[in-house]
Amino acid sequence: MKRLLPIIGLEIHTELLTKTKMFCGCPNAPFASMPNSNICPICTGQPGALPVPNKEAILKAYLVGKALSAHLSAYSKFDRKHYFYPDLPKGYQISQYDLPFSENGFLEVEGEKIAIIRIHLEEDTGKLLHSPDGKYSLLDLNRAGVPLLELVTAPVIQSSFLARRFCEEYQQLLRDLKVANADMEKGEMRCEANVSVQEEGSFEFVGLHLRTRPGYFLNPKVEIKNLNSFRAVEKAIEYEIERQTELLKEGRTIVQETRGFTERLKKTVVQREKESAKDYRYFPEPDIPPIVDFDFRVLRLPLLSRSLKMKLQSLGLSAPQADLIAKNKQIAEAIIEGSRVTEAKILANLYINRFKLQPLLPPREVVEVAKLLDEGKIPPALVGELINIALSEKIEIREAFSKMRGRRAAEKPIADLIKEVIAAEKEVVASYKKGKKEAIGVLIGRVLREGKGLLNPKEVKERLEKELS
Ligand code: ZN
Ligand code: MN
Repeated sequence: MKRLLPIIGLEIHTELLTKTKMFCGCPNAPFASMPNSNICPICTGQPGALPVPNKEAILKAYLVGKALSAHLSAYSKFDRKHYFYPDLPKGYQISQYDLPFSENGFLEVEGEKIAIIRIHLEEDTGKLLHSPDGKYSLLDLNRAGVPLLELVTAPVIQSSFLARRFCEEYQQLLRDLKVANADMEKGEMRCEANVSVQEEGSFEFVGLHLRTRPGYFLNPKVEIKNLNSFRAVEKAIEYEIERQTELLKEGRTIVQETRGFTERLKKTVVQREKESAKDYRYFPEPDIPPIVDFDFRVLRLPLLSRSLKMKLQSLGLSAPQADLIAKNKQIAEAIIEGSRVTEAKILANLYINRFKLQPLLPPREVVEVAKLLDEGKIPPALVGELINIALSEKIEIREAFSKMRGRRAAEKPIADLIKEVIAAEKEVVASYKKGKKEAIGVLIGRVLREGKGLLNPKEVKERLEKELS
């Protein structure tokens, strides 16, 4: 049997932050209130109640489409998607079927462009609370009708790691755009993964679509639900790939079904067989006219973390550093600004290692520290002391630096230190003299350490070389 490769597609539902619900004037506050306090005839599905779409939600849906470089449809509409579930009061969900707000976008994750098929709006359901003894269930409709943004990727993701990273990057994007909190633990963002395994060489991706080799029939896919953390996304997919691979190797078949992931057991268990589109009996929502001629000029993209990240990398930061800093706009901007006068990389190190990403000092003061380091006027080991003096005495870095130099001046002169270190490190000196030039690093390090003073590493190196020649 040929090697089996996983194919993964994601469906992500996110609650949008809006003042009111998707089709009525009730507050969009699923957590904040007493059960069933934010409800009205529309979001509880009373006969004859008429939905009115929320413009704020539509704007935000389009904004996400724009940020994902998707095609924004000037003509769009809502449809009814029928299914029966006790927390869905109308017996159908208002969603979008064939004309979503945007289609055909992508999100770049780990250097790969992951194709997005569609982004559409729909409404959230209510919430069932089951009694511990299983004898009754309670229904809270505060969440019913909250605007829900659904994103569907093409089945082009080829590892559980990439799937996880996609969810993380998408969450960051939604937060940058200020359209959602997207906290997975709170259920504000809910991921579902479609997973199948296919024989290597039997398929290829043509744009958004999977094309199979003639005569090859795709193995069915399994949908995994209940993924309520990034970790769960990765673990569940990993487990599912293994499960399907085993089944096929044993010559058994895979059933197309929906499985739930249980974090505790670290495995997926069958929930139900998967519905297909025809089971939902979609038809256009007759109570809402189509959305036409939407003015896209009102959409303004803010500075996104990933643009910041690229900018920071172009200034010489490593990818992980840029990643860390791009999440903190204030610091990112301080580094970009500071890079006009000093090394961005030194600034980044200070912010990450020294300040733990907290703005302890004003940006121009951090720049001063970076300059002192860059010019070799202060060894890294003394930066902590310098900052402490500035903070505790409430003085500027330059002043703190002069004070520190004053205190240190009384200590041993550099020439004596160099002699002492040469005398103490006989072996190192010998190997340096035999031609192992890099050995001088050890000597420089020891002089700087023992000096505990504000020695300039360049000067120490020059003096050592002179002394040893
Ligand atoms: Zn309502
Ligand atoms: Mn949906």
